Amino acid sequence: MDFDPIVFDRRRFPGKKCTGIISRRTFLTLGVSREFIDREFKTIEIRYDRKYTIYISTDVIRLNREKLEIWLDSEVKTKRPRDAIINGNTVISGNEKYEGIVVDSSGWKGNAKWIKAIEYLTEPVNEENIIVYIDSKNVGGFSWIVPLPYGTLVGAISYNDPKVFLPNINKRVFDTHGGAIPRVLPISSIKTLKFGDSTGLIKTFTGGGMFGIASLLYPLVNGIRNGKFSEYYSMYKILAKEVRKQYYITRLLESTWRFLPILFKLYNDKTLNISEEFDLHSLLVSRFPH
Ligand SMILES: Cc1cc2nc3c(=O)[nH]c(=O)nc-3n(C[C@H](O)[C@H](O)[C@H](O)COP(=O)(O)OP(=O)(O)OC[C@H]3O[C@@H](n4cnc5c(N)ncnc54)[C@H](O)[C@@H]3O)c2cc1C
Repeated sequence: MDFDPIVFDRRRFPGKKCTGIISRRTFLTLGVSREFIDREFKTIEIRYDRKYTIYISTDVIRLNREKLEIWLDSEVKTKRPRDAIINGNTVISGNEKYEGIVVDSSGWKGNAKWIKAIEYLTEPVNEENIIVYIDSKNVGGFSWIVPLPYGTLVGAISYNDPKVFLPNINKRVFDTHGGAIPRVLPISSIKTLKFGDSTGLIKTFTGGGMFGIASLLYPLVNGIRNGKFSEYYSMYKILAKEVRKQYYITRLLESTWRFLPILFKLYNDKTLNISEEFDLHSLLVSRFPH
């Protein structure tokens, strides 16, 4: 079946900005052109209170989400700025009514523990790796430096004011963006079609939503093509199980935050190989002594 989707978006312009760090596997699953890759990274340095450093050997990509959304917007019929109300297989927008297969992609609307994010794009820095800072005072949060060819992403997430935890790199700021990231305990299964953050399939600690987006993309598209959504609903269940584990692990991490130096001291200056654990954080637990 051929389909001709219509996107309703209450935002006037496409192109949400985000850090956009995803695993190579997520990038390949998304199946988009390499032109949306800003940079590839093999090492992430995790620094604790500027005292200890653990090196993560991995394979991640900076996806330019803004550019990807602007391109997608030019490829499909989009109505913006438009509020849409979903009612079963009907979308009501203004005086218009549309019927068809409806996919709710309106971001997370339910309960969550919200964590605040801020990110600057600054002048470039001469750095090869992504650097992540864990601060004893930023319980449950972290901050980062992501060096790109045309600038540097400097950001922080925190339950308090994330600005306080921004790494200071003394570079001219070109742009500021951010928002709130939901830490969601997704329900085990769903009965209607959802996509993106509206599913709640967001990696709890990092706030990464692209993994869930990539994993559900083809099951959803195939379902729309052949009218059978069993693959989509079972993929949702698998992902929800993983994110639910991540949610509880993050809560445990927050309540044991003061013990983190023990772990960092133990692994200081060591390199850990992280591949599928980049997305499946729950597997990380088995990597550390417990
Ligand atoms: C600072 C920051 C850093 C991030 N870093 C990463 C990262 O490194 N890796 C990663 O994987 N993820 C990251 N994420 C998360 C990632 O950006 C999100 O998972 C992703 O953008 C979700 O896209 P979405 O389209 O599902 O939701 P949203 O971007 O929330 O879009 C929902 C859209 O629905 C529209 N809408 C809502 N309700 C209605 C309505 N009733 N009618 C019409 N329109 C409506 C809104 O206007 C909005 O445009 C980050 C997020 C932030 C904020």
